[in-house]
Amino acid sequence: MKWYQLDVEKVEQKLHVVTNRGLSPKQVEQRRKQYGFNVLESQKNISKWLLFLKQFQDFMVLVLLAATLIAGILGEYVDAIAIMVIVLVNGFIGYFQEQKAENSLEKLKELSAPMANVFRDGKWEKVSSREVVVGDIVRITSGDRVPADVRITKSNSLETEESALTGESLPVAKHATPINRDHVDAQDQVNMGFMGTLVTRGSAIGIVVGTGMNTMMGQIASLMVNTKKVMTPLERKLAELGKILIVVALFLTALVVVLGVIQGHPVYNMFLAGISLAVAAIPEGLPAIVTVALSLGVQRMIRKKAIVRKLSAVETLGCASVICSDKTGTMTENKMTVKELFLNGKQLYVSGDGYDIRGDFYLSDTKLDEKYPNLQEMLMYGMLCNNANLQVKKGKYLVDGDPTDGALLVVARKLGLTAVIEENYRIVKEIPFDSDRKRMSVVIEDENGMRFLITKGAPDVLLPRSTFHFNASGRARLDAVDSQSIQEAVGRMADKALRTLAIAVKPLAKNDSLETSFLEKDLTFIGLYGMMDPPRKEVKSAIEECRQAGIRTVMITGDHVKTAKAIASKLNILPEHGLVLEGHQLNKLTVNELKDVIEDTYVFARVTPEHKLKIVEAFQEKGHIVAMTGDGVNDAPAIKASDIGISMGISGTDVTKEASSLILMDDNFATIKSAIQEGRNIYENIRKFIRYLLASNVGEILVMLFAMLLALPLPLVPVQILWVNLVTDGLPAMALGLDKAESDVMKKVPRNPREGVFARGLGYKIITRGIVIGIVTLLAFIITYQNNPDNLVYGQTMAFTTLVMAQLIHVFDCRSEHSVFSRNPFENMYLVFAVISSLLLVLIVIYWEPLQPIFHTTSLNLRDWMLILGLSALPTVLFGFTKK
Ligand code: ATP
Repeated sequence: MKWYQLDVEKVEQKLHVVTNRGLSPKQVEQRRKQYGFNVLESQKNISKWLLFLKQFQDFMVLVLLAATLIAGILGEYVDAIAIMVIVLVNGFIGYFQEQKAENSLEKLKELSAPMANVFRDGKWEKVSSREVVVGDIVRITSGDRVPADVRITKSNSLETEESALTGESLPVAKHATPINRDHVDAQDQVNMGFMGTLVTRGSAIGIVVGTGMNTMMGQIASLMVNTKKVMTPLERKLAELGKILIVVALFLTALVVVLGVIQGHPVYNMFLAGISLAVAAIPEGLPAIVTVALSLGVQRMIRKKAIVRKLSAVETLGCASVICSDKTGTMTENKMTVKELFLNGKQLYVSGDGYDIRGDFYLSDTKLDEKYPNLQEMLMYGMLCNNANLQVKKGKYLVDGDPTDGALLVVARKLGLTAVIEENYRIVKEIPFDSDRKRMSVVIEDENGMRFLITKGAPDVLLPRSTFHFNASGRARLDAVDSQSIQEAVGRMADKALRTLAIAVKPLAKNDSLETSFLEKDLTFIGLYGMMDPPRKEVKSAIEECRQAGIRTVMITGDHVKTAKAIASKLNILPEHGLVLEGHQLNKLTVNELKDVIEDTYVFARVTPEHKLKIVEAFQEKGHIVAMTGDGVNDAPAIKASDIGISMGISGTDVTKEASSLILMDDNFATIKSAIQEGRNIYENIRKFIRYLLASNVGEILVMLFAMLLALPLPLVPVQILWVNLVTDGLPAMALGLDKAESDVMKKVPRNPREGVFARGLGYKIITRGIVIGIVTLLAFIITYQNNPDNLVYGQTMAFTTLVMAQLIHVFDCRSEHSVFSRNPFENMYLVFAVISSLLLVLIVIYWEPLQPIFHTTSLNLRDWMLILGLSALPTVLFGFTKK
């Protein structure tokens, strides 16, 4: 027998679980041991050895190793071993950097992994999907990925899209009835939900019958293509630049070698020096360090509650010029409290805050009780047409589910109504809420077998569907005057930033059709709820900071235009002449027409998710880099189309999370600002170490080139060149990647995404600083060598030390686009420690006697150091005061 053929009790028996209890923790533990985690093993991780060996695959490094080997065979053991060791150490550093990047990316994957709702030991809980086991009772709702293979036991208009499995992109309606046939194909197993498929509508409860590789998806997992790591735009630009730089560096080193040979230096010496120089000067590791910097930045973002799903988003974040943000939950707290009711043509007030169930009802100053006409009914219907649960934790009330629904439960409690619903009322049908329909309906059968429909939703959606209304004396026709007074009440509530919700009923006969089109018309309007959802405290200042950073914030909401306006003015989003557009207006505009007004529009109200795509496109047409938030399944297309798709960690669905490049762990708008700030900072840090590394390399090449042009001996020997490279490139460059932002990062306009690597004066800075570093190094050599022509090692040690010191001082210049003196050097202690450790590594090879013959060095005295420091500080002194 197959799962789809069994009825629910049989499935329960076979899996030793009862639906109204779920598995016990012990059962879960034991099943996990037996079947393992609920994951598809489609990807094998790259082995550590391979990652280490990868560090040596660079062509020039291989040539250097070969040349060193020849040197070793020819008897130059010391040099050969020294070079080998340095290359090996370099390899280790590269390995650790990449490992770190890999690890943080792994961690990211874990953080953004989908969650599942499971019922265990009598309680609903959220666990990571990988922890789901066979026999678990799960709840899936629209927007979820089905976490495992599930036999549906109860379906609420569930529809799933199974194209990942069957290729069929039309949603399939699912129910719980057994299928009495053999050999039913996956697409016809309509009482099963399959791992990885998508819930497009409704909700359902089911029992997990297969996990991990024992699922339909598991069977085809091996056929799935592994996702390849894609380069970010900057990595790509740098990889291309790297190719040019290799050619330039090779040309210059070849020139050094040829000049050296012409000047009479031994060919072999020049060859080894040339290759060492090439290895040192070719920034082959640049894209790798960029990846490291990006992933370190990503870790910092996690601490600020932003999870980056695509590394490239870190770069794009810095270019964002418009943030289109949902109102509810992102700008507001998503903690709804009913503050007002409109009932029997009167405005009632409700006291109490948050989800606290204490509160009273007032008409003007008169306190009301359950005898007030229609009050009890209205609140009761609000509880029945509802999907949330009220829970008590540590004496505090919490809402599990939609906060709008939660508010209705809380306000009902204030009148003393509790959920006695299940025994007395049966839900015959539910038409779930979605942002397009802006309403939810249930068909209820009471204990006497009487049926009725309850619909709740946006007032402007429900009013046109109502022909009757309840007033103090009973049911009456809804005439234009009543309609007008309801609309005015909506306006009054919305003006106070209250979210409005209408509720209506319709009596049904037992054999009435359950078609939506029949049900949701000729309704009897009962009343209005006005709910408060206060703006989050930190949002106003975050919006202001964005404004200063040249980023516009636009509010997008499904709420009433007046509610939207009221909240927008509280948050300072809407300038005096700013426009507000509504969904029905957007319908009439083409993207091109919208483009003409979009620069002046700050609030979009009563929109559906489909409108969001239009908004993104219009902004993009205007040349904007758009960040767009979303949570529901229908938001996914707009999120995908935007430059930075942002989804909600708490309220977001799996589908939107998958489409997004950034997840807000706390659903908070202020986190978007922090992420943008961090994104800008990371990009600036990358510029800092590009500037540092390339200026250093220019300096290194020029010393050798100038020396050869001036017919001087070699100012640096190969081990020294390699040591300089090791000591100055590794740690200090990494530390620059960890630098704090300059105080004005959020005061500048967004970066142009098309700007080149050397934009904003970076190329000029690299060349000028590089030339001066080269010159001062050569000066140190010439001055020493001319006074001590017999002691070449002395001159070389001076050149070596000056080159390192000039770089270690210059690294502080790179921290600022302005003057070096604008920043406190001790702000970045990583850099200070990196510089100190680099310095120690240089002092060791100068002063420790056993190393002196290996590194061709000699001890220096105080006078030498004064010359070295004077010369190596020169680039900073020369350029330190200028911005250029
Ligand atoms: P956003 O999150 O985009 O800022 P929103 O959450 O207010 O906006 P929707 O969730 O689409 O937008 O809600 C639009 C309208 O639908 C609300 O103003 C309310 O009248 C109605 N509504 C919201 N939630 C429910 C619900 N659970 N049941 C019935 N109607 C609802």
